[in-house]
Amino acid sequence: MDIKYLKGVGPKNAEYLRSLGIYTIEDIFYYFPRDYEDRANTKKIRDLKDGEIVTLIAEVALINGTRKTQTGKNLTSIVFKDDTGFITGIWFNQPYIKKTFKVGEKVLLYGKVNRRFAELQMVDPKYEKNFDNNDENSVGILPIYPLNKYLSQKTLRNIIKNALINKRELLKEILPKRILDEFNLVDIQTAIDNIHFPKNKDMLNKSIYRLKFEELFLIQLGLQYYKKSINSDLSAYNIPLSGRLKELKEKLPFELTNAQSRTIREILLDMKKNKPMNRLVQGDVGSGKTVIAAIAMFNCAEAGYQAAMLAPTEILAEQHFSSITSLLKDFDLNIALITGSTTKKQKEKILTDLANGEIDIIIGTHALLQENVEFKNLALVVTDEQHRFGVRQRATLVSKGHNPHVLVMTATPIPRTLALFMYGDMDISIINELPKGRQKVDTYFVRSTMRERVYNFIKKEVMEGRQAYIVCPLVEESEKIEAISAEEAYDFLVNNTFNGNDKIVAVLHGKMSNEEKDFIMQKFKEGAIKVLVSTTVVEVGVNVPNATVMVVENAERFGLAQLHQLRGRVGRGSLKSYCILISDATNKEAIDRLTIMTKTNDGFVISEKDMELRGTGELFGMRQHGLPDLKIADIFKDIEILKTTRDLARRLIEDNMLEKDEFEPLRIKIESMFKEKIDITTFN
Ligand code: ADP
Ligand code: MG
Repeated sequence: MDIKYLKGVGPKNAEYLRSLGIYTIEDIFYYFPRDYEDRANTKKIRDLKDGEIVTLIAEVALINGTRKTQTGKNLTSIVFKDDTGFITGIWFNQPYIKKTFKVGEKVLLYGKVNRRFAELQMVDPKYEKNFDNNDENSVGILPIYPLNKYLSQKTLRNIIKNALINKRELLKEILPKRILDEFNLVDIQTAIDNIHFPKNKDMLNKSIYRLKFEELFLIQLGLQYYKKSINSDLSAYNIPLSGRLKELKEKLPFELTNAQSRTIREILLDMKKNKPMNRLVQGDVGSGKTVIAAIAMFNCAEAGYQAAMLAPTEILAEQHFSSITSLLKDFDLNIALITGSTTKKQKEKILTDLANGEIDIIIGTHALLQENVEFKNLALVVTDEQHRFGVRQRATLVSKGHNPHVLVMTATPIPRTLALFMYGDMDISIINELPKGRQKVDTYFVRSTMRERVYNFIKKEVMEGRQAYIVCPLVEESEKIEAISAEEAYDFLVNNTFNGNDKIVAVLHGKMSNEEKDFIMQKFKEGAIKVLVSTTVVEVGVNVPNATVMVVENAERFGLAQLHQLRGRVGRGSLKSYCILISDATNKEAIDRLTIMTKTNDGFVISEKDMELRGTGELFGMRQHGLPDLKIADIFKDIEILKTTRDLARRLIEDNMLEKDEFEPLRIKIESMFKEKIDITTFN
């Protein structure tokens, strides 16, 4: 029901409320306080202690004038009393205060007590006049709402109170009684009453719990409900362990890390089951995910089935093709590559061979998703660098097989709780270990006055046979003034640093055609180009182990996760590597971010910090996944509730409980919540 139908809300207030995102009366019930002031325990002046925060009921005893302090401020003081003593309220630079009180008037004061010598004081206390002892609007635990300049706390409190009194029938219980009972939850009306105007601390806590529970439960239930609707009774390819796995392992150019071995074990076991694998592999940049994909695809091919790997860019697809071909070279498998630049003739052959089963493993870009691509028996789909893909694209590939196993690999470190939340029922493997011998990338944060020295350092590394990246952010024309462009960086390098040698420096920018980009990347990989200046983010995942320097210009323009990805382009071999962040940022948040980069190389730590700085929601595209915003729960702090609700949701879905009458309101709720928004293929 539109908020304007609430009594006492005129057109002005309705407009102000909309500016807070409140459109309906239902919205207002769910507009939760960000904090509370505990005014529940009023005290007598005699009992006040230095430093405590209290509520008092007192009478105005004396209104002193305003005087100037030594530091030039206006100080207004007013003396209050109760039947046990006196206390002085002090306000700075608010001379009008003295006009708001009348001697003899009763007021409610709230604030921190200071004892100065014999005198008790409260500096800038909050006050309320005309209060009524029984009015919980004044005495009690008071809500503090997130507001903008248009509405006052008092106005919003009154509007909400009014809604709670006059429109409470709009608050309908959606949780069935048996759930309320089992988890000891207060009913919805009690919860909403008390989240706004708590009777006491205990009721407040119970209400918070109930609302967090509901919020997380609805999401988990929605995820599981839709997952089941697409995934029920799936029988999958049952892929046995190949007898040649051991041989493959012995032929690898390196020894697998423990984390890699564990992940591979988990994958192979999944593929042996009758149910399609649905696994997310998270491993920091450079943790060695490619070999894991190679082994999984190898095992699939050995059983006579086909495997496909989807990469977000041509460069990456080619790189995977060449590393995987090389890792599996001794095993006479037919491995193919398909991208946008595959010629028509090659493509025709590939399509035929795929359809009749000649090709065992195919690696490709979006070209793999085209309609005319058909498989004989696609049993495993691997997608790399998942955050670059829409979930729909992954689903398209999956639909080319009959319930193939799915492996998703991502280098975006997501804290486990977030992954649990976002991926609902996906199993997760974490590669929390880098291959031996990797050196930590030394990271520096410098000002642009150091640029020449930084470029000279690049020159020194190039002289020693190494390579370097310089990444410049893409800038809008209008912002050009402060940001260095790739062209400028290129000119400076060629003309000053490398004394006119323009053969070894190249620019890569977004406007180039794919062929041009590939050509330059290829030259960089071969080592002909020593310094690559890039306007776009260097392709996620490129592997040039000889590159030892990553310079990021105007580094403040990048998020932490992005900087971490960029840094991951160096330090991929055993050579000592460096990441230099150039920035003249002056704002604290940017400086904090860049400083964090210099302190840790751990992607998980970085993503947690990123969340602290930026908040959870925006970060990993939760919205893109179609998940609603969290209003009250916090997936880090409320991990226990998250688990409880996840288990409960799973149980209810397994038992088909949502079909029952008592669950109908709940089912309607999740259907409306997730309507069109949820991309159910998240799970496939
Ligand atoms: P990412 O997880 O970022 O995709 P890659 O699979 O590209 O990482 O691996 C990064 C580099 O580490 C590659 O050069 C790869 O050959 C190498 N590598 C992978 N696993 C190991 C290992 N266990 N020991 C040594 N080097 C490894
Ligand atoms: Mg990779």
